[in-house]
Amino acid sequence: MRAARWYGRGDVRICDVPEPQVIPGHVKIEVKWCGICGSDVAEYLKGPMFMPAGVHPVTGCAPPITVGHEFSGVIVELGDDVSNFAVGDRVVVDPYAICGECFWCRRKEGGSLCERLNIIGFFSDGGFAKYVVVPAKQVYRIGDLSFDVAALTQLTVLGVHITRSAMLKADETALIIGAGPIGLANLQAAKNIGAKVIIAELSEARRRVAREFKADMVLDPRKDDIAEAVLNETEGRGADVALECVGNESTMRTCFELTRKGGSIVAIGFSEALFPTKVNDLIKTKRKVIGTLGYGDEFGATVELLQKTEHTAREMITARIQLEDIVDKGYEELVEHKDKHIKILVKPE
Ligand SMILES: [Zn+2]
Ligand SMILES: [Zn+2]
Repeated sequence: MRAARWYGRGDVRICDVPEPQVIPGHVKIEVKWCGICGSDVAEYLKGPMFMPAGVHPVTGCAPPITVGHEFSGVIVELGDDVSNFAVGDRVVVDPYAICGECFWCRRKEGGSLCERLNIIGFFSDGGFAKYVVVPAKQVYRIGDLSFDVAALTQLTVLGVHITRSAMLKADETALIIGAGPIGLANLQAAKNIGAKVIIAELSEARRRVAREFKADMVLDPRKDDIAEAVLNETEGRGADVALECVGNESTMRTCFELTRKGGSIVAIGFSEALFPTKVNDLIKTKRKVIGTLGYGDEFGATVELLQKTEHTAREMITARIQLEDIVDKGYEELVEHKDKHIKILVKPE
């Protein structure tokens, strides 16, 4: 079968590889759609970041590794002792295969913190291939949710996790800076809770999707006064929760300035910047700063969210391409025309 494999920085190749063989406790899935994640692009441009430089200590895999962790598909074969799934089940896969036993997993804080984590598509072969074999415990049924929208689960779950971590409530206002994939996932999750959302984004294409996702206010930072808008909407208090999805010092400062006393600032966009505040200010304002990466046990809830919002969620898909074109029309396109895109889906057949 054909597969897109990461060999090294700037070197992703489409190769012929043997079909993976199912093993006990695992299922074999025929991949229908697999999304290209920002982390895949980062790995292509600057890797190895998540990718192992040599043999991975948990999985024993080493590059080349088949990439792709945002996929949906159909179960075509079951491992010997798998009884809770059937051939033909329509499914999506949680790529964070946690150990379930370490300190963090026992506290239900596994996700990115698990000590023996396998991220499928980074530490072992992923979904940019016709078939993939994964542990059955990572698999979720999608009912009649379409395969393309189901491939957005691995993105949308981040928003569900972040809004839960920030304890955003229905009667509260969230300020989201940046309407890229994660900003939009946060918007979707926040609207699902019933919160009011003000979102700021430079790209018109992304602002359009934010409006489709029913953001209460969509701002263009070049034209609109974000501070004025947030303070007007919150009787001068500031947002209850501010989500920094850009990874920029000045937007982080904006988040601090526009969060109410006792509110939360969530750091989501990667950045080398220092927090623009004094310890004294945090103490006196009782603001909380939250760091977040990955997610916890929200995968099932996210499938349900996408079942409810299938039609609008599809707006995230800005291109569909064939596996053979993944470098030119996928990775390179996302580098050259980042602002035009949210999610590019790849068809591995
Ligand atoms: Zn991803
Ligand atoms: Zn663990």
